[in-house]
Amino acid sequence: METKVITIDHKNIDETVLQEAGRIIKEGGLVAFPTETVYGLGGDALNKESSRKIYEAKGRPSDNPLIVHISNMEDLNSIVEEVPEDVYRLAEAFWPGPLTIIMKKSTLVPKETTGGLDTVAVRMPSHPVALKFIEYAGGYVAAPSANVSGRPSPTRAKYVIEDMSGRIDMILDGDGIDIGLESTIVDMTGEIPMILRPGYITLDMLQKVLGEVSTDKTILDINCKDAPKAPGMRYRHYAPKGQLTIVEGDVAKTIDKINELTMQAHIKGKKVGIIGTEETRKQYVGDSVKSVGKRSDEESIARTLYAILREFDDEGVTVIYSESFSECSMGQAIMNRLLKAAGHQIIYV
Ligand code: AMP
Ligand code: MG
Repeated sequence: METKVITIDHKNIDETVLQEAGRIIKEGGLVAFPTETVYGLGGDALNKESSRKIYEAKGRPSDNPLIVHISNMEDLNSIVEEVPEDVYRLAEAFWPGPLTIIMKKSTLVPKETTGGLDTVAVRMPSHPVALKFIEYAGGYVAAPSANVSGRPSPTRAKYVIEDMSGRIDMILDGDGIDIGLESTIVDMTGEIPMILRPGYITLDMLQKVLGEVSTDKTILDINCKDAPKAPGMRYRHYAPKGQLTIVEGDVAKTIDKINELTMQAHIKGKKVGIIGTEETRKQYVGDSVKSVGKRSDEESIARTLYAILREFDDEGVTVIYSESFSECSMGQAIMNRLLKAAGHQIIYV
């Protein structure tokens, strides 16, 4: 299949392009598009054949449900059994934006889209290209991240092209991916709302709107043997090709440890990548030392993390050492992704 790549300026949107992209979705095809979190791989959420194609293009297990993207509140009603009062409050506070809400699904949504579940995950993204595209596509776009399953989510069009060329009909190459990590997922089907995946919208922000909110305990606890409640969180995910290890502890000791591990790896002939920060990067000696952002600005770290993991792949790095990050507010989302990328390999100093 030939994949059409079209550059689109999110500040000056060419609607004819989005019309064409929308038509492809309505005809059962697949289009990758930018959102404020990461690039999505879109298909018609109400067409089970489209969902099947998404799983195939990604090489994703079909029991891992897809998020349905909508562009306005009126469209929510027909895909869920009912809209709980609290969901209106969440939507008022965080939509459009990086929050995915799990509700009971209506019969309109095929089980192929929800990985066999009776619930559906819904998000209204804020990226202007995504919103317009969803509208032209008929209102319901199922979209996981536009990477091959197991690779880091793409935050740049070149990585979508790398993973999806030849597998889908069209790639919309747009900028404006400001957040860089996938949406926060909150499950509203239980008695107490529960965070299934941490993201830009933090526990604290949700509690301000909803009162009591819990967090799936498998998210950060590496000793927890329970199955995560979001099926997708079970799979090794976000993984670079090199073997990633996180070093956690006092900053000075972390730097010493990473430099020591790097020397040992060099003796074994490994090519070493190091994930440091603006504050520390000059203190490392490695083949490829990268700053993931400013420790004092967690948003800068979230925005850069996946691109760095991909760059290490491009450079043929075989071993990666990373500093660890605070688990408060957005740091929780960063650590959750980093731990998964590391297959939970962590050294305490
Ligand atoms: P991605 O497609 O990469 O954005 O990942 C979507 C995430 O949402 C995966 O971790 C899914 O398991 C999760 N998810 C989607 N729908 C549901 C649902 N109905 N219940 C629980 N988790 C869901
Ligand atoms: Mg994904």
